[in-house]
Amino acid sequence: MSQHDQRPLTVACPQCQKKVVWSEKNPYRPFCSERCKLIDLGAWADESHRIAGEPALDETNIDEWLARAERGDER
Ligand SMILES: [Zn+2]
Repeated sequence: MSQHDQRPLTVACPQCQKKVVWSEKNPYRPFCSERCKLIDLGAWADESHRIAGEPALDETNIDEWLARAERGDER
């Protein structure tokens, strides 16, 4: 007998405050999406890991950054 009937735990996305179900199906928890996770990563990366010649990571270039990350050549 396992406790399957627990209500799902929800958390507020640290980036956009949207309610997110904390689930193993969400690899981006506690964020609501990969986008919010990367925005948050970009926020600290901008302070400590800024790459010369690269524009700051922001919402306008997240999609391009994601595409590069998916190809594995983000460095
Ligand atoms: Zn979010």
